[in-house]
Amino acid sequence: MPPDTELWNRVEATAREVFGTFGFGEIRPPIFEPTELFARSIGADTDVVGKEMYTFEDRDNSSISLRPEATASVCRAYIEHGMHAWPQPVKLYYLGPMFRRERPQKGRYRQFYQIGAEVLETVQPGQGGPKDIPKDAAVDAEVIEMVMAFFARLGLEGVQLEINSIGHAAENCRRGYVQKLKAALEQVKDKLGPDSQRRIETNPLRVLDSKLESEQAIIAGLPKISEHLCDDCAKQYAEVKRQLDLRGVKYTENWRLVRGLDYYMRTTFEITARGLGSQNAVCGGGRYDGLVELLGGLPTKGIGFAIGEDRLILSLQEAGKGGAEAGRDVFVAWMGEKAQTSAIAAAQRLRAAGFRVELPPVEQKFGKALGQADKLGARYALILGEDEIATGQWTVKTLADGAQAKMSESEFLEKLKRL
Ligand code: ATP
Ligand code: MG
Repeated sequence: MPPDTELWNRVEATAREVFGTFGFGEIRPPIFEPTELFARSIGADTDVVGKEMYTFEDRDNSSISLRPEATASVCRAYIEHGMHAWPQPVKLYYLGPMFRRERPQKGRYRQFYQIGAEVLETVQPGQGGPKDIPKDAAVDAEVIEMVMAFFARLGLEGVQLEINSIGHAAENCRRGYVQKLKAALEQVKDKLGPDSQRRIETNPLRVLDSKLESEQAIIAGLPKISEHLCDDCAKQYAEVKRQLDLRGVKYTENWRLVRGLDYYMRTTFEITARGLGSQNAVCGGGRYDGLVELLGGLPTKGIGFAIGEDRLILSLQEAGKGGAEAGRDVFVAWMGEKAQTSAIAAAQRLRAAGFRVELPPVEQKFGKALGQADKLGARYALILGEDEIATGQWTVKTLADGAQAKMSESEFLEKLKRL
């Protein structure tokens, strides 16, 4: 609702502006998709698909779901619209509502808003492999730099960037690590809570994500993925850090940072901000080479992020950055039938010049008009009575200090423009 929506609009306009300066264009994916798209891309074993999705049977018995995130839709669109033939890489951003059936609380809603971006690049014949490591790392770092630039532009406070590499799905890399992790978890199984016990089977990496106090000491002793990355993934991770340094982007490493979505590989990152309590993650992202191919497209690299807009707004408001603007620039206090004609003309010209004008539909007593102007947070009251009409000199009252002056219409416009 207003005035909050002013902040929402400012945040969204800033996203468009900043992402535009990095060469991103907007994509508007649909609100619902075939359930299959999310099940395949996010993974049927994940909380998002297994527990949180709003799924419905359509009239033709097919299954559709409200989107819990937009990366899958962007990849589908990339394939469906032949974007592999566009100049590469393809850089897209989106904003809009997402839906997850979670327990609602501060910063966690069933309809929430994300602002996200993706960089997609189809691997050309003869390309790809280890020689792409420096290029991919620079792309990762630039995407992270862009989010940080966006947050800086908004004046978001207490921003902390954490990064990690989760390697890639191969025996000598993440798969080998997950086996070691699983074995280590079996050893301490009795000391873990029911959620983590279940995850040993379904998704052992997610145990690292646990916020349960009683599990923290145990998790600290588990094997770390950084010690099990293959040479290429280790090289890529080192290069991402170097590229972040080149860009002056500050980060900390967090080996426990794994993404909830199955398709992430190598670079993962999360950004937290102040004033959000335990729901303090405002952005999550990472690399997902292979997702487009999994969905039936050509081998394609991908990196992206999603910002939780509701949380971003909460944090800005908490820091007093939500400053609602004054409700109106001008309140036209008119008295007398003749004055109404002039008041309508004045309102038309002021509005055409872009100012926010309140024009009362009926004549009001002077005191009542000023009272209403004050309630609406107007900056100026333009007083139009018989005298003003006769002389062409308007009476302008500055509501903040009560100062009153006579001036012509053009002088008043000049005054307003100087605001
Ligand atoms: P969390 O661990 O908080 O559930 P997540 O890993 O499910 O987050 P992602 O899928 O990575 O979140 O989504 C990116 C961002 O979207 C999050 O960092 C968060 O800011 C926001 N987000 C996710 N779920 C919700 C929700 N239910 N309500 C509000 N914002 C959300
Ligand atoms: Mg979640």
